[in-house]
Amino acid sequence: MKVAVLTGGVGGAKLVLGLTRIMAPRDITAIVNTGDDFTHLGLPVSPDIDTLLYTLSGKANAVQGWGREGETWSFMSALRSLGGPDWFHLGDGDLALHVMRLAGGLLSQTTARAAAAWGVHVEVLPMSDNPVATMLETNAGLLSFQRYFVDHSCAPIVRSIFFDGVQHSAPAAGVLRAIEKADTVVIAPSNPWLSIDPILAVPGIEAALRRTTAPIIAVSPIIAGKAVKGPTAKLMAELGLPVANTAIVAHYGDLLQGLVIDSGDDPGVDLGVCTARTATLMTTLDDRARVARAAIDLARLFRP
Ligand code: GDP
Repeated sequence: MKVAVLTGGVGGAKLVLGLTRIMAPRDITAIVNTGDDFTHLGLPVSPDIDTLLYTLSGKANAVQGWGREGETWSFMSALRSLGGPDWFHLGDGDLALHVMRLAGGLLSQTTARAAAAWGVHVEVLPMSDNPVATMLETNAGLLSFQRYFVDHSCAPIVRSIFFDGVQHSAPAAGVLRAIEKADTVVIAPSNPWLSIDPILAVPGIEAALRRTTAPIIAVSPIIAGKAVKGPTAKLMAELGLPVANTAIVAHYGDLLQGLVIDSGDDPGVDLGVCTARTATLMTTLDDRARVARAAIDLARLFRP
């Protein structure tokens, strides 16, 4: 069985790691948001790709929620001593990945090289090799994703979101094939507006999802009317949406065959799609595997 997963960073990486516990990693393709990518100090940074690579190679800092375990910070302190910009934290090990990326090749190629070097057997693909920048119109003006997320700590009120450059982008090599070959497509519990929408906006990707006969199953990022982390719930409220599974279903519309929701959520509410219930908070490795299993089992109901 082959699975294609649409994913952002932390929330998505948890689910992809869970999938590797219940099926062969080689049968999984992660199609990763690159709308958060930006150039910092001349270095190409791909936060969601990096989170996937660190998580799947066992290098992620689980406590911090981003970056590498056991990271050192010599570069940042040297940079600070020079009066350089310190709003975005680049650990020494992390820096190596960005420098390697700068040294050459398409994002998909440098990602494949890092994955091979670190023994990651999941196929990790950027949604596109072309630059796409998630931009937010806010009460503090127009902000790029990292300025909003890191520099402004998600405080500005978001009015609308767009993906600069997306109309000129193309899916990275392998993305459409992975969707075509997939027996199941899973949409990770990543932020639908900031992490999944950029992927769907790359010309050709949504059309491929509409063509496939494979079931498309999402895992909800909402538990008990709250997001587990990050700006998802705040953003939903600012966009005038209820912080509820109904809004997740409405957002993905008829792309979706099924939704995995938390055991405690929506008793008696007809969400209009097939649902599976499990505790969807992924704290331990077993949680990750259980939520992944719930998505795959739900997909099975739709396959002949
Ligand atoms: P980012 O790109 O690093 O911000 O991460 P993602 O977009 O992949 O994930 C952010 C979303 O993941 C948030 O909306 C969280 O609610 C959701 N999330 C994080 N951890 C969990 C979890 O354990 N369970 C569920 N159901 N959602 C989670």
